[in-house]
Amino acid sequence: MKDKGKENLSGTGPLLSIVIPLYREGAHFGTSFSEIRRCAESTSLSCEYILVDDGSDDNTWEVIEEICGKDSAVTGLRFSRNFGKEAAIYAGLERTSGSAVIVMDGDLQHPPEMIPEMVRIWQGGKAQVVNTVRSGRGSRFLGYKLAARLHGMILNTLSGFDLEGSSDFKLMDRAVVDSYLRLGESRIFYRGLVAWMGFRQVNLPMEFVEGRKAGSSWSLPRLVRLALNSFTSFSTLALHLVTFLGLLLFCFSILLSFNTLLQWMQGSAVPGFTTVILLQLIFSSIIMIALGIIGEYIATIFHEIKNRPRYILMKEFARPDRSPDGE
Ligand code: UDP
Ligand code: MG
Repeated sequence: MKDKGKENLSGTGPLLSIVIPLYREGAHFGTSFSEIRRCAESTSLSCEYILVDDGSDDNTWEVIEEICGKDSAVTGLRFSRNFGKEAAIYAGLERTSGSAVIVMDGDLQHPPEMIPEMVRIWQGGKAQVVNTVRSGRGSRFLGYKLAARLHGMILNTLSGFDLEGSSDFKLMDRAVVDSYLRLGESRIFYRGLVAWMGFRQVNLPMEFVEGRKAGSSWSLPRLVRLALNSFTSFSTLALHLVTFLGLLLFCFSILLSFNTLLQWMQGSAVPGFTTVILLQLIFSSIIMIALGIIGEYIATIFHEIKNRPRYILMKEFARPDRSPDGE
């Protein structure tokens, strides 16, 4: 393992690492990075930057290479394909050696002006994790806002942590990063797991900023996958709910059959057709939902036991003495 926090590249004091996952950000990242850099360096700490290209199909990697070529404080990683933001964050965190690490988006939607304040809180010893909490969702369409709110509410209930509005823009102390990297699961949910790990955490409010690129790189299926992953990686409550519902329905159907039998014995036989159809519909849909939820968990088990790497690297651009295998 590398000597943590000893490298001083510029500036003074402990090293601050900044991890930025990037997917199709080539068009603006050159200027966005200068801004991030200016804010990070205004803390007067020495800074290193880990830029992770998550298999972009635009010129993101070329932009990263150009930045790396000019600046030894920057390490660039390139995935062999798109492995997702969570994997990119993990890979970036693995390369950090700072005493504090900040993870942020590359499209300036996480205001870099907040970095000095986050660092101040960490240096004051008040917190080992500085979270930023979104206060709005900007001009996104109503359906998205409603879905995000619903997701937040379910997640809070299932996980027992207040994750609504929490973002991936966080400062973490070295101890927190090391613990995070030791977590064994491969389907990681960064935001939730950082909350789960504990330590002393402080929340800072963050205004919603429109990103530099048009829209978001999250399509609806990807968002749904992330939402399902966030639920199953946190609790098995949904499974228990299915069992409970099943029992409740069983009691209900026993009562109903008594009622039907009684009517039959009294000779007032029910036409029954509607009831049968309704019951069949209700039961088959509940069975399907139940199977779906069980399937989700089985899928998670399936992913975990395969023990695949979280990502595959295609290229790495780092100063020879800073690259893990001394390339
Ligand atoms: N990102 C990534 N891999 C992906 C999708 C996104 O590394 O598959 C990065 C992206 O480059 C950005 C951050 O994750 O730095 C947030 O993505 P985006 O701005 O598209 O999402 P949103 O603003 O909707 O949260
Ligand atoms: Mg964005």
